[in-house]
Amino acid sequence: MTLVEALACERCGRRYAPADVEYTCPEHDGVAGILDVRYEYDAVSDELAGVLDGPTEDLWTYEPLLPVDGEPVRLGAGGTDLLDAPALGDALGVDALVKNETTNPTGSNKDRGSAVAVSRARQQGHDVVACASTGNAAASLAGYAARAGLDCRIFVPADLPEAKAVQPRLYGATVLGVDGTYADAYELCREVSAERGWYNRNAAMNPYAVEGKRTLGFELAEQAPDADWVAMPMGNGCSLAGAWKGLREFERLGVVEDTPKLLGVQAAGATAIHDRFVAESDDSDAGSRTGEREDGGDTTADSIDVGVPHNAGKACRALAESGGDAVVVSDEAIRDAQRLLGECEGVFAEPASAAAVAGIRAAVDRGTVAPGERVVTVATGTGLKDSASAREAVDDVISVDAAGQGLPEDL
Ligand SMILES: *Cc1c(COP(=O)(O)O)cnc(C)c1O
Ligand SMILES: [Zn+2]
Repeated sequence: MTLVEALACERCGRRYAPADVEYTCPEHDGVAGILDVRYEYDAVSDELAGVLDGPTEDLWTYEPLLPVDGEPVRLGAGGTDLLDAPALGDALGVDALVKNETTNPTGSNKDRGSAVAVSRARQQGHDVVACASTGNAAASLAGYAARAGLDCRIFVPADLPEAKAVQPRLYGATVLGVDGTYADAYELCREVSAERGWYNRNAAMNPYAVEGKRTLGFELAEQAPDADWVAMPMGNGCSLAGAWKGLREFERLGVVEDTPKLLGVQAAGATAIHDRFVAESDDSDAGSRTGEREDGGDTTADSIDVGVPHNAGKACRALAESGGDAVVVSDEAIRDAQRLLGECEGVFAEPASAAAVAGIRAAVDRGTVAPGERVVTVATGTGLKDSASAREAVDDVISVDAAGQGLPEDL
């Protein structure tokens, strides 16, 4: 038995028994009423000592706190390293740490959500899982579906980086390249999944995918209880909101005394969450949906190239509750940060992840983050899936003939 008490609508507050709804609150159109999974925290508290005693092998170490009955699907998500990052810290003027999510089994933080969503899908007897994705969620769902013996259908924008379109197919998924934006792919996935009875993993409507993302917050609370800030990139905002839920729960359960402030980072081509957060903070235009772009965003950081984020409200609430802030960074700053992270710490992260590093620099420049503060940057995904964009950040190969002709003297 899971310790789930109810699903609560983020919009109207109505509560449902887990057996009564699968996705969003039926009282609202579309995906307006996202449901939040609520637990019996007294019972969770009783399980906690056992969870915290040993090492965190993977996210299933937190199984009593996750909404899954029976044997979960295991591929090794979670339990990632928190690296000291002294060279990066010197470059940024802070006490830096890197939470290395690039080592998740399919290469990104999406594995935390997929592990839980696919375990749920199998437990509920579904044969087919589906999602719309800018790439990493696709690969992740496909990998976990393969592991669980389920069929997988993926909707992606047709202009995806090559490796991100190959990886899910290698795991046996059917990939549908939608001639349109991520928002178009998302809508099509929602319609077709509803029609054909496929289990939809999309974290903006599936209440369980985000539950897996909480485990990043659990790990951060355990590994960096004294962090002042956690910097994360924001696309839909689900990852940041999920991590915040986990951080808050561990504070509530007494595992840590304090929570860090969140620094949410977006790219200049896709700023909707940032704009909404700033508008709400100014109190001038609270709740407005400024900065949304129906045509999709425009940035090299494809994983956060989301014109109309589905979880902007949740992400803004997380930023505000944490006392944090949102910043926007240019593609040029992202490229510099990608190289900096690689050179300083040996972590090859994709542009979306590097945006968080660029965001720390921007926040220090603005005085939001004080010099010397302890800042965790979450390296959300590996750069290996998109070497084309990384190529723009690196030096050329030096051509040398077999006799060594061309070798620079000063090397
Ligand atoms: C999905 C993703 C993000 C953004 O997460 P959201 O939940 O969409 O905000 C950031 N980095 C990487 C590598 C991702 O795959
Ligand atoms: Zn509702």
